[in-house]
Amino acid sequence: MRKPCLVFLGTAAAIPSISRFAPAIAIAGLKEAMLLDVGEGTQLRLQEAGLGLSKIKIIAVSHLHGDHFLGLFPLLQSLWMQIHNVDKHRSEAKISIISPDPSLCQALSSTPFVECTAATNGYIHQSSDFVVTAIKVNHGEVKSFGYHVKIVVDSRKRKYVRLFYSGDGVCEDDCVEILRSVGVDVVIHDATFTSLDDDRARASFHATARDAALLARELGAKLLILTHVSARYGSYLIDVAWDARRFFRNCIVASDLMYVPLAAYASVV
Ligand SMILES: [Zn+2]
Ligand SMILES: [Zn+2]
Repeated sequence: MRKPCLVFLGTAAAIPSISRFAPAIAIAGLKEAMLLDVGEGTQLRLQEAGLGLSKIKIIAVSHLHGDHFLGLFPLLQSLWMQIHNVDKHRSEAKISIISPDPSLCQALSSTPFVECTAATNGYIHQSSDFVVTAIKVNHGEVKSFGYHVKIVVDSRKRKYVRLFYSGDGVCEDDCVEILRSVGVDVVIHDATFTSLDDDRARASFHATARDAALLARELGAKLLILTHVSARYGSYLIDVAWDARRFFRNCIVASDLMYVPLAAYASVV
């Protein structure tokens, strides 16, 4: 049996700090690795986590706010150096980038080892370890996708972990309907605010921890992981956790370099 895991590389909202880098999450422990968002400093956190660049085969970007994608270019630069200076055989293997917007793909059009696709609602990318579905979420004016990732744990026993990462957006009715049809075991959700700051959350098209918990409950998920927590809560993360736990008990607040084994949350589908 394979042992997929999550490694949180960056868990800040908007402005990073030494203890909380900009958003990025690795799905590791398999033949391939995947990144959900790639904020500033991602490659440094990958080094800290002991995860090599060479395994990364898919990078899914939720939206083009700088905190979610500005780590992409230095990471690709390092990969380019690796491919050409260390291992020339790897030049055949392309990295799949799923972008929320064609402009990022245009910017990468001359990068030879990258295959970039601008997502549409329901776009599916399949590899040997992952089935990734892009699902439109509402984050105001910026085009934004959440990603449903079906991770193979044991294909003979049809065991999969089905994960949903919300990015910064709000999963509205259409999004919930798609998620219900595909099933979700683990929700990773933006919890920029708590419900005490509900008006701020609505104004900026972010979620509160309570919103995230209600979604996890509605989907019948087994685990909720809150991330992208505003620095305004400082070290009072218990307030963020409590805002969610009133509605969904099995909830944790992510911190940088937090490691979450996923096999225990698998479903037979
Ligand atoms: Zn953000
Ligand atoms: Zn954003």
